[in-house]
Amino acid sequence: MRLLVVEDDEAIRTFLERGLTEAGFQVDAAADGRSAEALAVEGIHDAMVVDLGLPDIDGLEFIARVRAQGSTSPVLILSARRSVDDRVRGLEQGGDDYLTKPFALAEVVARLRNLLRRYSAQPESSRIRVADLELDLVRREARRGERELQLTAQEFALLEYLCRNTGRVVTRTLILDHVWRMRIDPATNVVDVHIYRLRSKVDVEGVPPLIHTIRGIGYVLKSV
Ligand code: CA
Repeated sequence: MRLLVVEDDEAIRTFLERGLTEAGFQVDAAADGRSAEALAVEGIHDAMVVDLGLPDIDGLEFIARVRAQGSTSPVLILSARRSVDDRVRGLEQGGDDYLTKPFALAEVVARLRNLLRRYSAQPESSRIRVADLELDLVRREARRGERELQLTAQEFALLEYLCRNTGRVVTRTLILDHVWRMRIDPATNVVDVHIYRLRSKVDVEGVPPLIHTIRGIGYVLKSV
């Protein structure tokens, strides 16, 4: 699940980016309305977190514009404006939920999951299946056959990335870029360590392995 965070306060933006990434979301962030709009028109976000007080256009104006361009992604408004009037206006003008600052990260995550559940138009699109492996992207749950996999948020994100590229070989650099989304020394073995742990949960004895190593290149998920 990919999110767009629109927040001009750098400390809050960084906090949200980090926290939501750790919760297993892919996060794009923008510091003003216009750059957010440029990202939103790509139509790749499953939900948006929008601050109202932005340096250029107002958050409500931003929501109106992306709605006018056909975006149906649910919007969680995060704002310091706390009056009933402000909240009502936010919800009337295209926001789907409203949370006032200061906020707890856990509540942002819970409300986003709730919105994603309510608004995912086709429940099927929130699931990925490869052989007997099934990922529920909203609940962040994975199972293989009848067995539920106990994955960390990072392992889930890694498995999601491998599944989205089923049958394609992904390099360590690609994995670092897409799953960790930060600059990590490519020489690090963080990918191999996580693959090792993931494999010990996904490919247990007695089931056909899904995660395969392509020596010197990277990994591929496929059912043989
Ligand atoms: Ca602001």
